[in-house]
Amino acid sequence: MDAGKNIGVYICSGCGIGSSVDCQKLAEQVQKEYKPSVCKVDNWVCSDGFVNQIRRDINENQLDKVVIAACSPRFLTDLFNFGKIVVERVNLREQVAWTHSPNDENTNELAIDYIKMGVAKAIASSYPEPIVLDVNSAVLVVGGGITGMNSALACANAGYKVILVEKESNLGGFYKNLYKLVPRKAPFLLLEHNDIDETIAKTLSHPSIEVLTNTKIEKISGQPGMFNVDAIRNGDRLQFQVGAIIQATGWKPYDANKLSHLGYGVLPNVITNIEFEQLFKEGKIKEKLNGKSFESVVFIQCAGSRDQNHLPYCSSYCCNASLKHALYVRELNPDAKVYVVYKDMRTPAQYEKFYKRVQSEDNVFLTKGEISSITGNGNGRVSIEVSDTLIAPKIKLEADLVVLAVGLVPTTFVEVVETEEITTTADGKKVAAGAELGAKILNLTYRQGTDLPTLKYGFPDSHYICFPYETRRTGIYAAGTVRAPMDGISCANDANGAALKAIQAIESVRVGKAVHPRSGDTSYPDFFLQRCTQCKRCTEECPFGTLDEDDKGTPKPNPNRCRRCGICMGACPERIISFKNYSPQIVSSMIKALEIPESEEEKPRILAFLCENDAYPSLDIAARKRIQYSPFIRIIPVRCLGSVNVIWIADALSMGFDGIILIGCKYGEDYQCHFIRGSELANRRMENVQEKLKQLVLEPERVELHALSIDEYDKIPEIFNRFVEVIEELGPNPYKDM
Ligand code: SF4
Ligand code: SF4
Repeated sequence: MDAGKNIGVYICSGCGIGSSVDCQKLAEQVQKEYKPSVCKVDNWVCSDGFVNQIRRDINENQLDKVVIAACSPRFLTDLFNFGKIVVERVNLREQVAWTHSPNDENTNELAIDYIKMGVAKAIASSYPEPIVLDVNSAVLVVGGGITGMNSALACANAGYKVILVEKESNLGGFYKNLYKLVPRKAPFLLLEHNDIDETIAKTLSHPSIEVLTNTKIEKISGQPGMFNVDAIRNGDRLQFQVGAIIQATGWKPYDANKLSHLGYGVLPNVITNIEFEQLFKEGKIKEKLNGKSFESVVFIQCAGSRDQNHLPYCSSYCCNASLKHALYVRELNPDAKVYVVYKDMRTPAQYEKFYKRVQSEDNVFLTKGEISSITGNGNGRVSIEVSDTLIAPKIKLEADLVVLAVGLVPTTFVEVVETEEITTTADGKKVAAGAELGAKILNLTYRQGTDLPTLKYGFPDSHYICFPYETRRTGIYAAGTVRAPMDGISCANDANGAALKAIQAIESVRVGKAVHPRSGDTSYPDFFLQRCTQCKRCTEECPFGTLDEDDKGTPKPNPNRCRRCGICMGACPERIISFKNYSPQIVSSMIKALEIPESEEEKPRILAFLCENDAYPSLDIAARKRIQYSPFIRIIPVRCLGSVNVIWIADALSMGFDGIILIGCKYGEDYQCHFIRGSELANRRMENVQEKLKQLVLEPERVELHALSIDEYDKIPEIFNRFVEVIEELGPNPYKDM
């Protein structure tokens, strides 16, 4: 058999591999079994000389596939890129030589098994040609506040056309209402003039920015590179196309009517910091005080923030805002007493200098404390009792005005009353609703809802740790306070980040490459729709709304929306979804490439599916620390645990694997899954796996699923070794000798 025709296999004996396993013998076994066109061993496969040798072999032998058995595929990726050639990396260094006893029969068996799996994968794979579609390079920015304008300017200054849509009649958003700004430059001590009008003027006069005020988005369809936008402006319909979208629709203050325990809506002299700012901006503060001057003002921090009954998170902008407001009072009446009662004063980085400056002001008093009561004292003033202060267990303050520093709520926040509630997309489809129930801002025609799916408190972020700006809708980026609590200066910076992501999305789809986290990937899922049963699992489970649906429920892919996670592939019971280099059939061929030792040899075989995002790199870290684990494990990296199709587990158990282990990212409320729901879906699919085990009359303990984060590298070897013990106790899989 010459299954290895046009394949080159290169085995490295450097980095300790050669002193751990017999590389020449490995090459002989590969030669015998697959007859590859080229099979070579070298003690420095990554040297310039040898890489050039591979290039010469490719040309001279018309190789279209190359298997490099050396270090982890996470290293030297660019070096082993030979253009349109399938490159399969076999991890002999980290997963064999550095983690197992040298010159041991089991270690040699492990090495040959990995090479066989690599060759089998290369044989079954083909080079994924990118899908290249027409691309419109314009960026749509939704929201004309500080973030939206800075996003528009960043894109336009980088050479991209921008269409900026604002629902109000003017640009500027919330920022326009600010009387003064907190210090933005050294020495970070002095309040600054609000220069928003200059930003507005720059935006309006930029030749690459088209500003559409009084405009609302009615509908967005399409995909990155070619979003079709319908907007309504002063009653007229506008239609245009863009390549990427930045949502910078900002925030709204937390509803102070819910803060009656702090006197809002009960006492006329209790107002919000937003109202306080406006009184100064409009010069109406004296009017508010009936012409009297302040004698004392109390600022109450975290009004509704960091409070489990309201917003449990820190709203980020309000400590500095109240320090600024203290100086407003000082400006009006230097003799007035200013009290700021806080839970913690959060003024990070250079703002600490501003905090110290305000702290050192005469007549400004700052204390930690909890508000026990706020009551009117009958003479138009307010009495405030504060407990647990820094000065005394209880203090009593009198104020002409109480200012509540209210929290920040993103404009995407929608109260989800019923998780099973049904919402209607812009093109009339009924879909199950989560948080994307509909802020009705973007009005996407996606099968999965009209707006950006959000996290618990309404922030549309797809993975807050690794991918700021990303949302669960490819090519649509969130920036500023709609993305996370932040102040104006951070908003202006955030705008640049989102602008870069929007540009990156446009440039990636222009060449048919994935954005994140598989940046540069040219593969995409193919659907063999002739065999589709319209079960809708893929359209429901795709975390990124990639798949729309026809009336019968057949998936309608939008390749540029796809993140290439393979979750649809894991979901499809018909196994008709596949990538050119990752498919149910390709992985099955890797599993079937292995020989299972007979029971009497007492060498159990365990198949491990490891997520490429955290679990696999984590095992590489363990290898760098030379942490050893059982040689009976055979690892297959997967794009996401959600891409694991139950057929692989069934195949492996039927051919005699004694146990199967799946390790992915953490799921649940604080999920760390790079594809949002992949590891959670894999966990849910375990029910089907248990069903399969029952059919095969096998013990439920033969399959385990674990979740861990990248820094828990010491846990994987422990998990492996413990699982091997469980399997040894259960005894061999009865199918292995059949
Ligand atoms: S599940 Fe993943 S691979 Fe499948 S269509 Fe959605 S994003 Fe693409
Ligand atoms: S999961 Fe498979 S069978 Fe079901 S709708 Fe999608 S492609 Fe069709």
